[in-house]
Amino acid sequence: MSQTKESPVEDLTSTRLPSKGYAAMATSGNLVPWNFTRRNPRPHDVLVDIKYCGICHTDIHFVRNDFGMSVYPLVPGHEIVGVVTAVGDAVIKFKTGDTVGIGCLVDSCRECDNCKQDLEQYCLNGATYTYSIPERHGDGITYGGYSNQIVCDEDFVLKVDGSLPQEKVAPLLCAGITTYSPLRNWDIGAGHKVAILGLGGLGHMGVKFAAAMGAEVTVLSTSPEKEADAMELGAHKFVFTKDEEQVKNVQGYFDFILDTVAAEHDYNFYLSMLKTKGTMVCVGLPNTPAQVPVASLVFFGRSLAGSLIGGIAETQKMLDFCAANNITADIELINIKDVNEAFERIEQKDVKYRFVIDMATL
Ligand code: NAP
Ligand code: ZN
Ligand code: ZN
Repeated sequence: MSQTKESPVEDLTSTRLPSKGYAAMATSGNLVPWNFTRRNPRPHDVLVDIKYCGICHTDIHFVRNDFGMSVYPLVPGHEIVGVVTAVGDAVIKFKTGDTVGIGCLVDSCRECDNCKQDLEQYCLNGATYTYSIPERHGDGITYGGYSNQIVCDEDFVLKVDGSLPQEKVAPLLCAGITTYSPLRNWDIGAGHKVAILGLGGLGHMGVKFAAAMGAEVTVLSTSPEKEADAMELGAHKFVFTKDEEQVKNVQGYFDFILDTVAAEHDYNFYLSMLKTKGTMVCVGLPNTPAQVPVASLVFFGRSLAGSLIGGIAETQKMLDFCAANNITADIELINIKDVNEAFERIEQKDVKYRFVIDMATL
């Protein structure tokens, strides 16, 4: 098998599993085809043949090293749907042929207070993310879903209902759970006025979930051309945030704002749209510090909070909720050769509303 010079972390021994995918070799680089190895399945592992992988904006942040923690070569992708092709001797939840999902987590310590409460994403000993982080048992670096196969402990694998189109299920593994979890945590439902800030991959799932939960849903967007789509996705109102009149109408209006914006933005501008005692939850991750005037919180009893994906049990609940309510992502299926162009289009806000890679094109 071939290996590039830029792959110092690789250990090409015969005990590892030859795999292929697309990787970023350095911060500035595009994604290129790359051959690498994964750990061989252990007794509690399943081997998954990847069918589809969504493109999350976090993949772009990591490829660009926006958070200063990227390890190269970096194979992104944490919205994975595939089929189990082998199981370890101790696996009890899955069998060969099962359709499964893998999201942002592939392991955690399982012993800390947060892990014991099904909050593995907040593992106090450091959750093991699906890519660009050391494997839990010292076996190299994790590589994500822009690849042909993945090895994962069965406790971090999700069951996927066969009745939904798999390519549209893939984005639920990150965009889905990241929006579902805060809406559930803050008990959003009928009677609540909810704003979804930013209509991208996360935002469009937020609209679907908040509407399904019975809330009145408004999309706050910098892209006026997205209004018709917002309504079709289930929103009741649309505010073009560069139109002063429209913005005036929603001052002090919302109980809850879900902020999915990936770039620097003015938090105070959006906080002013919250009612007294309202809450704005940030899930978007701009790489610049937020400037938040505390008075905007204090004088109105408002809360500004954050939320990270969701635990494994909650992710399964979300997938079951989607199957019961026929909820999937709106996607554009792409050839893996077009992945760099897809990254550029996402950065230009030109995505309806999630790119998903058809792994058969690898
Ligand atoms: P995305 O598809 O690019 O959507 C982001 C949307 O934000 C854009 O479509 C755009 O919507 C809006 N936007 C962009 N720049 C803006 C600006 N300067 N001001 C106001 N709005 C702007 O990205 P995504 O995949 O949904 O991810 C969004 C963010 O969430 C990323 O930072 C990602 O890393 C983060 N994320 C966090 C978690 C978590 O667990 N917390 C999980 C996944 C992703 P409009 O055109 O409607 O304005
Ligand atoms: Zn993601
Ligand atoms: Zn833990």
